[in-house]
Amino acid sequence: MSSSSQVVADCLFCKIGAGLIPVKPLYEDERVMAFADIHPQAPTHVLFIPKTHYANGGEAPAELLGHLLHAAAAFGKAQLAGGYRIVMNTGEHGGQTVDHLHLHVLGGRHMAWPPG
Ligand code: AMP
Ligand code: ZN
Repeated sequence: MSSSSQVVADCLFCKIGAGLIPVKPLYEDERVMAFADIHPQAPTHVLFIPKTHYANGGEAPAELLGHLLHAAAAFGKAQLAGGYRIVMNTGEHGGQTVDHLHLHVLGGRHMAWPPG
């Protein structure tokens, strides 16, 4: 199977992006959507996903990656005046657990550095 396609049947975030698993959208346009992480790691913890399937950022076209990051940063700017962190976990060493490209937007508390 190719690393990208419109929607992958057994992919959790494809199902969310297609509306098959209902979530409260915190942002949505024709290409991307955002919803609260089910296990929040900060007072605000939002996931931004493309509606089409890419396993990770390395598989996605530049224009879509830019759009996804722009949407996440716009959310941070609008909602998280104290600052925020955008994270893209990738692969086993990166701590990725869902193999559909997503950005975490975390805010509402101070973030430690370096990350664990
Ligand atoms: P990662 O570990 O970077 O792949 O992030 C995957 C994230 O998806 C984790 O933070 C999970 O808590 C989150 N997650 C898993 N299932 C759901 C779900 N049904 N709704 C919202 N977030 C989810
Ligand atoms: Zn997917």
